Amino acid sequence: MQLEESALGSEIRTQVTQNNFRGCRFRVAKEPVYTDLAMNCLFCKIIEGTIPSTPVYQDELVYAFADINPKAPVHVLVVPREHLGSLDDASADKRELLGHLLWAAAEIAQQKKLGKGYRVVVNTGEDGGQSVDHLHAHLLGGRALNWPPG
Ligand code: 5GP
Ligand code: ZN
Repeated sequence: MQLEESALGSEIRTQVTQNNFRGCRFRVAKEPVYTDLAMNCLFCKIIEGTIPSTPVYQDELVYAFADINPKAPVHVLVVPREHLGSLDDASADKRELLGHLLWAAAEIAQQKKLGKGYRVVVNTGEDGGQSVDHLHAHLLGGRALNWPPG
């Protein structure tokens, strides 16, 4: 299911039950988890709905939206609702969340009919080219992708 952008912020605050596009029922957290870092985080604001985005998928753990500067015909960012700075900040208790992030990327790839192939990328840290300090996976597809990346 695709949600209206304007609905996202209020949903996070009011706790509703929604269907995702595969028909699974899920609950949206009553209040976003705010830390000092998260309060100034671009992706936390996108998840909250105070900064607009084009939603692609959401469930109780992740929110996925179109990248503002797409590098491929399909370029979706899959973001955990919980603020984690990067993959490097993910402790052992986040293993399930990390698995869910990858699962969601594959679900979206199916929805986008990327049967020919796609790439899921998690840029991490300065050398990894990470520019937004909230863990996210890029789902790229719709064209042949070069390897290795630059
Ligand atoms: P990174 O470089 O951290 O791996 O990826 C960050 C991504 O976030 C980039 O691909 C960039 O285009 C995207 N991005 C940055 N600001 C915004 C924004 O305000 N909205 C959306 N939808 N994407 C953004
Ligand atoms: Zn954040």
